[in-house]
Amino acid sequence: MSERKKTRVLVLDDDRFMLEFVSHLLKELDVDEVLVAEDGKAGLFVLSTQIDDVDLLICDIEMPGMDGIEFLRNIANQKYGGKIVLFSGVDEDLLKAIERLAIVRGLSVIGTLVKPVTIGALADLLEKLTLPVQVKVESSRSRQIFGVDELKEALLADQIKIFYQPKICALNRRVTSVECLARWQHARYGYVSPDNFISVIEQNGLINDFTRNILRKSVQQLDTWLQQGMDLKISVNVSMENLDRFNLPEIYQEAVQNSNVPIERVVLEITEGKLGRDFAQSLDILTRIRLKGFGLSIDDFGTGYASMETLKYMPFTEMKIDRIFAHKAAEDLATRVILESSIKLGKAFGLNVVVEGIETQADFELVAALGCDEIQGYFVAKPMLPDEFICWISDYEQKRK
Ligand code: C2E
Ligand code: MG
Ligand code: MG
Repeated sequence: MSERKKTRVLVLDDDRFMLEFVSHLLKELDVDEVLVAEDGKAGLFVLSTQIDDVDLLICDIEMPGMDGIEFLRNIANQKYGGKIVLFSGVDEDLLKAIERLAIVRGLSVIGTLVKPVTIGALADLLEKLTLPVQVKVESSRSRQIFGVDELKEALLADQIKIFYQPKICALNRRVTSVECLARWQHARYGYVSPDNFISVIEQNGLINDFTRNILRKSVQQLDTWLQQGMDLKISVNVSMENLDRFNLPEIYQEAVQNSNVPIERVVLEITEGKLGRDFAQSLDILTRIRLKGFGLSIDDFGTGYASMETLKYMPFTEMKIDRIFAHKAAEDLATRVILESSIKLGKAFGLNVVVEGIETQADFELVAALGCDEIQGYFVAKPMLPDEFICWISDYEQKRK
């Protein structure tokens, strides 16, 4: 039998008493290893000397020397992959602003802890350590480790697999569609998330073949599901780097025309943040993609730079509101205001409004009540391989009836 994985926590606080007190409480709660550091610099040093991952970082904000915000900036640059709890006596709004900043930097903040700390509050946070996380390679090996040759070999050896994550109708909860998400089935690291390799593909001129391949395979999968009587659509992610050639609409059309799938059942998702390098060319290509019959979704809405201008000009059919506006919207007023306004904006433009990244029942109920059309997130289901998806959907539909 395999051994239980050890839990390792690093606590950062300039107050020695607090360090000892929190360490003591963590040990009471069965944490296997507690590391401590008295300021940001010491924290970075401790992290740099670890062979095993640190699972949780409890980080004070106000520290002399390097403060908590600077510390978080540093560990985000170093791709720290564990979870974080912000720990402070600063006021709640400021703590929330710091939490949002950390999330924007790609860090995984699972909560905040106000002083004075209690064992109950710590126990609640430790419980969250077991929530599902995205399949990612270890932080110390992320992003830069994959070279272009390794990726070329992976593409040739057909090691890129597609996971399918359902979207459901907010009103009747029916599964309407699946988003097709690439994973690299790596011999050593298991399923590697696209954040770790898409940029290498983009930077080395491989993205066009890659996207065409994903589109072709996803369409084939949908073809099979439609033949089995399922009523689904698919969404496929298209990189802005793809929009470098005017014949792209024809290339995508061909990928669908080699199947029985009606083109209207295929939605292409484009991330807003990268739109507009050559605005006229992007507009030309995207408009012709729509003309061919594809749906067009503005992905990660709210995180880019040109939201309003983009919405005005680009022929989108769908708006996908980024998960940073859904995460904890039920608890956080500012997040909720942005979420609500974005949904209204999308509806006013006549778009199908999707909220992604819904992880809790409270957020699910909130976004449904705010009038979004479709919902996606771990609360509904995580991305799955086709066999797993089939089992999941039959089970889900049984329960829904
Ligand atoms: P995206 O298109 O915004 O996809 C949603 C991401 O959020 C997926 O991550 C999904 O697994 C994750 N997710 C879904 N529900 C939840 C939730 O409740 N909580 C949290 N924390 N995360 C959730 P994934 O699969 O790692 O993909 C990351 C990004 O990589 C995608 O973001 C997309 O931009 C890109 N990507 C994925 N597949 C492809 C592809 O085939 N081509 C291109 N160009 N990009 C891709
Ligand atoms: Mg997407
Ligand atoms: Mg997205």
